[in-house]
Amino acid sequence: MSADQDWREKYREALRRLAEEEARSVKTQNVLKLLIGRLCLAAQGRDARLDQEIARVAETVRQHIDASSVEALLGPLSEAVAALDRHERASAAPSPPAAEAARPVSAAPAAPQAHKEQPAAESTSAAIAANASPSEAAPADAELDSTTVLDRLALLPELKPVVTELRSRRRETLNLREMAELLERVTRYATEQRAQVQREKLELESLVQQTAARLEEITSHLAGEMADRNASQEDTQKLNALVTGEVEQIRLTAAGAADVATLRQQLTARLDAISNHLIQFQTREDARIRTYRDRVQRMRARIAVLERESRTLQENLREEQRMAMIDALTGIPNRAAYDDRIEEEFKRWKRFARPVSILAWDIDRFKAINDAYGHKAGDKVLRVIGQHLARHVRDTDFVGRYGGEEFVMLLVGTKAEEARVVADKIRLEIAQLGFHFHDQPVAVTASCGITEFTGSDTPDIIFDRADRALYQAKQAGRNCCVVS
Ligand code: GH3
Ligand code: MG
Ligand code: MG
Repeated sequence: MSADQDWREKYREALRRLAEEEARSVKTQNVLKLLIGRLCLAAQGRDARLDQEIARVAETVRQHIDASSVEALLGPLSEAVAALDRHERASAAPSPPAAEAARPVSAAPAAPQAHKEQPAAESTSAAIAANASPSEAAPADAELDSTTVLDRLALLPELKPVVTELRSRRRETLNLREMAELLERVTRYATEQRAQVQREKLELESLVQQTAARLEEITSHLAGEMADRNASQEDTQKLNALVTGEVEQIRLTAAGAADVATLRQQLTARLDAISNHLIQFQTREDARIRTYRDRVQRMRARIAVLERESRTLQENLREEQRMAMIDALTGIPNRAAYDDRIEEEFKRWKRFARPVSILAWDIDRFKAINDAYGHKAGDKVLRVIGQHLARHVRDTDFVGRYGGEEFVMLLVGTKAEEARVVADKIRLEIAQLGFHFHDQPVAVTASCGITEFTGSDTPDIIFDRADRALYQAKQAGRNCCVVS
């Protein structure tokens, strides 16, 4: 019965997890609703058409964040933002366009290396980004106090990179375009979260149902087993009684027999009766054993199925855990994977004192790439560079997307000065990746800040030092590496 209890325990555990997931989802939804409401409020009052779309978004999310209805709102919202922007541009004094942006571009960049790229996710913000110029200062009435918004956003771990990025700008306000971008990311996050919880819920429900059915089978098998054993016991007792009765009869016959011939005749009849009892008993026992064997065989088959299902489930869980550590856009490890790895490398460095270098990478003027060629093109650049970085380190090293257009590397057994040589080589390769937009070459470069673990460092201190070195590289004119 311990296997039975084991399953019931797993069963309860699954239900507990399901309830927790649902509670988390509800909490996330509430935070998102508040956020979206606040963003809508802040963006209102600029334009009648935009106000109409914003009111629709606010109304929809107030009731329930539903992926398809929110998705349907994003198109008209982007349109309204774009129309407003066109209108403002037409009425404002024209500013000279950036060199790249002036080119007629529509095609996506072609990566020089033939490697498999994941399909780019359709993004509504691409339309918004393509139509709004980030260099334009937003009018005062479209601005809002960003501190509260960012504080709330920081509650959602998946949005941490966006929050860090916005905080690093050290500005108190968000302009309309940034708000639209945020709104889109928040919506996308909410949709993904809901879908994930929904998927897990369905999987768990089906698992629970299957387990319940299997448990029933096991229980009825055990009940059958018990009944058989009882029947067998009763039968044996009955046989005992019958044989004892016959033996008693034999004794009486022997005592009262008149002659040998009658005695022989009566003895033979009694012995035949005993033999019959034994044969009948044996037949019933054989039938019971056959039933028992059938049942055991059926149970074995069921247990084999159960074991297979449990193996598949474990594999799925392992795969899900692995995927949770992978960045969906670039296919390389994500920030969560970095957090795990830096802790691990840090402990190892404390124990073995083997040098470890950390490299903070950031694509130069990436905003301009997005603005000139669109978000989808920007995403493609991120994928190509992420994959390039991942291919150019040793198996024992680490490369991950830290967030936005920032990547982080851990080079194990490498001192900072040696890391600089590696980084410079990679930096030159990035500059020569040869991105093209509509057959026009587009320069894409990256800068890198490098440092190695030392003294009384902690993972946070190490990263901050690498980040400061990266800042110096940007100050020094970009497309360079700085060691700190
Ligand atoms: P710098 O050389 O100083 O690093 O300039 P920058 O323009 O690269 O830096 P900034 O931090 O101002 O801009 C980063 C941009 O990266 C802004 C943001 O919209 C964009 N970005 C962040 N994440 C993504 C993403 O997943 N896809 C795309 N296409 N763009 C992203
Ligand atoms: Mg950056
Ligand atoms: Mg950058």
